Amino acid sequence: MSKVQRGNISEYLPADCMSGSTLWIGGKWEAASDGRTFDTVDPATGNPIISISRAGAGDVQRAVDAAKIGAKVWAELDGMQRAGIMRKAAELIREHRLALGALDSIDSGKAISETSGRNTDGAAGMFDFFSGITDKIRGSVIDMGPKKTGLVEREPYGVVGAISPWNFPMTNATTKIAPILACGNALILKPAEQTPLSALLLAHLLDLAGLPKGVFNVITGLGAEAGAALVEHPDVPKISFTGSTATGRRIAAAAGERLKSVTLELGGKSPFIVFDDADLDTAASGAVTTVFMNQGQTCTSCAKVLVARPLLAAFIEKCKERVAKISIGDPLDPSTDLGPIVSQQQLDRVNRLLSEGVAAGATKLALSAKYSPMVGGCFIAPLIVTDLDPASSLAREEIFGPVMSVSPFDNDEEAYAAANDTEYGLAASVWTSSLARAETARRAINTGIVWINCVHTLSLNTPVPGRKSSGLGSEYGWEAVDNYMRLKTTVTMFGDYKGLF
Ligand code: ADP
Repeated sequence: MSKVQRGNISEYLPADCMSGSTLWIGGKWEAASDGRTFDTVDPATGNPIISISRAGAGDVQRAVDAAKIGAKVWAELDGMQRAGIMRKAAELIREHRLALGALDSIDSGKAISETSGRNTDGAAGMFDFFSGITDKIRGSVIDMGPKKTGLVEREPYGVVGAISPWNFPMTNATTKIAPILACGNALILKPAEQTPLSALLLAHLLDLAGLPKGVFNVITGLGAEAGAALVEHPDVPKISFTGSTATGRRIAAAAGERLKSVTLELGGKSPFIVFDDADLDTAASGAVTTVFMNQGQTCTSCAKVLVARPLLAAFIEKCKERVAKISIGDPLDPSTDLGPIVSQQQLDRVNRLLSEGVAAGATKLALSAKYSPMVGGCFIAPLIVTDLDPASSLAREEIFGPVMSVSPFDNDEEAYAAANDTEYGLAASVWTSSLARAETARRAINTGIVWINCVHTLSLNTPVPGRKSSGLGSEYGWEAVDNYMRLKTTVTMFGDYKGLF
């Protein structure tokens, strides 16, 4: 891998973006109409990266106007033609893996080995997977008796608003872009203000792939301004959001007021259960992976670890041994496993939850990792906490930092009760060598996804449907078609219509 340098940002971004015009509207780079900007900050150094256009409601209006034109052009292409453009996009994403990875790493602090590797493969894979459904969308014919035909078709919404978070910038954006396009919609993406850069290069690559102007638009800006204007816009009938539960509730309320459809991928407080018959080495590997990957900033992270009491000490030892091999430091160094937390604000939040947990009696276990924080960066070393008060904020809120909470349990029922004692219902991971226990567990745990003897094992065809406060709908897999298309029923009569009056 050639070395990515912080100073080389202009090599990775379209030239117009370097001068603060980062709104991609109707196939052109534009500045905010009132000229406002904000800085995106490198969390590894605390230094500003570049100025980003701060869109307001007027800019969102321009994007909606462009997207409405784009939606018409896109609808005139057949599925095969749309698939061709999407496959080309996948190819270009793979070709530009280093640039896309560099932008995500500089902007979010994620390790370059991940952003230019797994994350880029995932982004390209999204376009490949969904290019495969563009020409396979079907409706149905309803038997209505003689002289009548009932047709049920799927139609795109037209213009979809997509609002994405900072924890996997490129992956979360493409998880929305690819199915929305595949279903025949135009879209306006509002990337997180902390991490807008990879979306700008994606806009350029989709343009190169031949996507008609106006089909994909990017509005950079703040959530309460650009994001809210998108949610409130009357000509955007569908909103797809990934982010915190608090913001998800706000968006759902605004969308509910206007009766528009929303898909929400929100937070979690997901359990990781190690039964007394589990393979302890593999379970420890799974736990360290799910808790510490991406510095804990993963919505499906199963960081609430519940261990059968007799295994507790051995399990913690095995986790410690694995954590000792993780290197934390400069995200641009190809040998780094983990970088900083995305922002000072998030780091402060993690530290606040830790202090509140300790004040409520929790014990912090020091872990030795290869920890080389950079000056001015938002770094935090991995931690295990025990003796948690189940009522404390540390035990109940999503931490979104590299903190594994470990609690013992004495019987299976106690483990299920602890697993379900949360407002969230996103994911769970269960470790056992008993088939009967695995079956019982997956039925007992009230989450959208349950992993048995694995964790984060997904394919593009696997839905992750959040329950309770973790979401509405699901983005991955064929189910995305239900998110991004709406039904239309047509009844045709070819006999004599007889009215009531
Ligand atoms: P965090 O609180 O961790 O920054 P959020 O869930 O608030 O995460 O942010 C996820 C995305 O939602 C970002 O793109 C952000 O700009 C956007 N956002 C935040 N608030 C709103 C809002 N009121 N309306 C629409 N989008 C919003």
